[in-house]
Amino acid sequence: MKVFIDYIRSLFLLELLKGLQLTGRYLCAKKFTIQYPEERAPMSPRFRGLHAQRRYENGEERCIACKLCEATCPALAITIEAAPREDGSRRTTRYEIDLFKCIFCGYCEESCPVDAIVESRTYEYCFENRGENIMTKEQLLAHGDKHEVQLAKDLEAQAPYR
Ligand code: SF4
Ligand code: SF4
Repeated sequence: MKVFIDYIRSLFLLELLKGLQLTGRYLCAKKFTIQYPEERAPMSPRFRGLHAQRRYENGEERCIACKLCEATCPALAITIEAAPREDGSRRTTRYEIDLFKCIFCGYCEESCPVDAIVESRTYEYCFENRGENIMTKEQLLAHGDKHEVQLAKDLEAQAPYR
């Protein structure tokens, strides 16, 4: 009996018609795909992309070298060296993030008491040479300077949930 049913199905191309029916249904439906990179999907303010270091409005770096981010990082991706300045304030002399080790968990951002280290919306980056996986303090600050407006907005949006 099964052989007979299969024969009838193949004779009248029922499987093909069933497939075309499904195609037809999605032909006019709302599209889920977008034309990246011309079109971008909406992004959450809590997106965890490439790291950045932020400054205060007067240009002073926020980081106070408390090393909480280094201690909390589960991947041991952060390396900090610090020393007091002439004015007695404590600042980092070395702040590096190894992006090969980083798992983008966001713990560093959450642990920072002065919102100095943050994860930006930047996700389009690559490395071409050995050593480029290490983000230095200068690179982090430059990245923060470039995206400060967006970073500040995202932190404000996250404030009720922190
Ligand atoms: S995002 Fe997570 S793994 Fe990456 S540096 Fe921060 S704490 Fe470490
Ligand atoms: S980035 Fe924040 S948590 Fe890390 S050392 Fe600086 S102030 Fe402390």
